[in-house]
Amino acid sequence: MQASELNYFKDILLSRKEQIEKNINGVSTELSEINASDLNDEGDHASANNNSMVESAIIEQQKKELSEIDKALSKITNGGYGICEMCEDDIGFQRLKVKPHAVYCIDCREIVEKSK
Ligand SMILES: [Zn+2]
Repeated sequence: MQASELNYFKDILLSRKEQIEKNINGVSTELSEINASDLNDEGDHASANNNSMVESAIIEQQKKELSEIDKALSKITNGGYGICEMCEDDIGFQRLKVKPHAVYCIDCREIVEKSK
């Protein structure tokens, strides 16, 4: 991959990373506000718990993506970015445009999805 292409994806990954970090911090703040607020009846407790569970799941998902983004960024620095981890083919520019932190090419992705 050319340096200009690497820089292109680096920019996308860095801004995505910034956005996710903001999201995670925002959700954490909301969570602690829910926990801190005075809950009077059972209904309030139930809805607060539901919100916490949904938001925890969102945080988990975002943290996972964040670590994938970090991995992609280190590959941009150290080499190997855009190479499929399974078959070592090029992942392809179009696919990376849709998912810049992809680690598998489209074919291997399908195999991984099916084997789950
Ligand atoms: Zn592959």
